[in-house]
Amino acid sequence: MAAFIDKVKIKLESGRGGNGAVAWRREKFVDKGGPAGGDGGRGGNIYFVADENMSTLLDFTYKSVYKAQDGENGQNKNCHGKNGKDIFLKTPVGVIVRDLKNGKIIADLDAHEKTILIAKGGRGGRGNARFATAQKRAPQFCEPGEAPVCRELELELRLIADIGLLGMPNAGKSSFISKISSAKPKIADYPFTTLVPNLGVVRKPSGDGFVVADIPGIIEGAHQGVGLGFEFLKHVQRCRFLIHVVDISNEDAIENYKKINAELKKYSEDLASLYQVVMLNKTDILDADYIKKTMDDFKEFNNDVFAVSCATGDGIEEFLNHLYKKTDEIPHPENPLKIEYDDGFDDNDDSEFHVAKLNKNTFLVDGGKIRRLAGVTDTRNIQQMRRLANILDSMGVYQELKKMGLKENDTVMVSHIETSYIGDYETNY
Ligand code: GDP
Ligand code: MG
Repeated sequence: MAAFIDKVKIKLESGRGGNGAVAWRREKFVDKGGPAGGDGGRGGNIYFVADENMSTLLDFTYKSVYKAQDGENGQNKNCHGKNGKDIFLKTPVGVIVRDLKNGKIIADLDAHEKTILIAKGGRGGRGNARFATAQKRAPQFCEPGEAPVCRELELELRLIADIGLLGMPNAGKSSFISKISSAKPKIADYPFTTLVPNLGVVRKPSGDGFVVADIPGIIEGAHQGVGLGFEFLKHVQRCRFLIHVVDISNEDAIENYKKINAELKKYSEDLASLYQVVMLNKTDILDADYIKKTMDDFKEFNNDVFAVSCATGDGIEEFLNHLYKKTDEIPHPENPLKIEYDDGFDDNDDSEFHVAKLNKNTFLVDGGKIRRLAGVTDTRNIQQMRRLANILDSMGVYQELKKMGLKENDTVMVSHIETSYIGDYETNY
């Protein structure tokens, strides 16, 4: 059986940063000019963009691997390599993103046009022109581009309906949706439409719309994952309120109504505490006295009870007016998902640094904190240079460099600052 597609796994890879260049200015009559190697371009970023015109994750089942363009290498004459093109992946509104590495939620695309950087392109390496200092006028090295970010993700679609429809099978939920809907989102793309929560978009006279979602097959035990209820209840977790649809031609109407509310409560206190309006259906096959009496019976449990017929349309207009009013009054409940984990696109991470071997005796250490430190260090001030070395030491930078073969008298570029490694030294002075 084909699966119901509200979850997909995808792989993303941002663009690699372009390498910096080693190049020299060539001028007429000048044998060898200054360094002129340009920086590499940034690798392409990958973003998710929530789009209300999308309603399924089907596109991601057709294409599940995305790779952004690499940055171009730097060029001579100080030319910066071109940045890689960014990729913007459209998702339906209501998608949550999990990192498969640890199963944690890293993003929640809960609003139209919400845009999230999900895989940051590698930084371009700096060309040799940027490493020139008074002491070293002709640096022979450049920096390699930063590696791309690779992520394996799971997207899960949670429909954000305004109103959820509760009710026993055959109460008339689907009939109600088709009666009042002016448009149906492209949900029929699913392989098994009957297994999908039935959705309808209702246009208010004001032109504004709201989404009604059926919760099919809610049955006893649904909260334990029996039947379909559990899978689908999550789609209505953030709706404004619920309509409880009751077939009053069924003699167990009140019993059913109570059963379903008990199920709901077991599944989610939050859902159970939402405003609920009762829609008594199928009045066309019942007489007026019976309808009146049933309404009174239900009013013992709920103040807001409406009697309608989806077959003839009787009572529908009055009921709709009530729904317009309530959708205006009642906001979506505030229960934003907790974003648990977030890396792969943070360039302000203070604990991280990276090291590179630029040539036989030259190493580079770089990163957000390193750059900031280097930026505020006066290289002519011995105290400040010592302080810088101490901080690098405590960050474990030298340890890392030694693993790469750092020896006494090698050059260590601390971002743009050139230092000479003098071996282990006493740090507590
Ligand atoms: P659901 O399972 O809650 O989605 O119920 P459906 O909308 O599929 O309806 C179940 C059955 O009840 C279908 O045969 C409908 O034609 C019928 N039905 C729905 N609404 C009415 C109504 O107002 N009057 C009558 N007589 N039958 C209805
Ligand atoms: Mg139905």
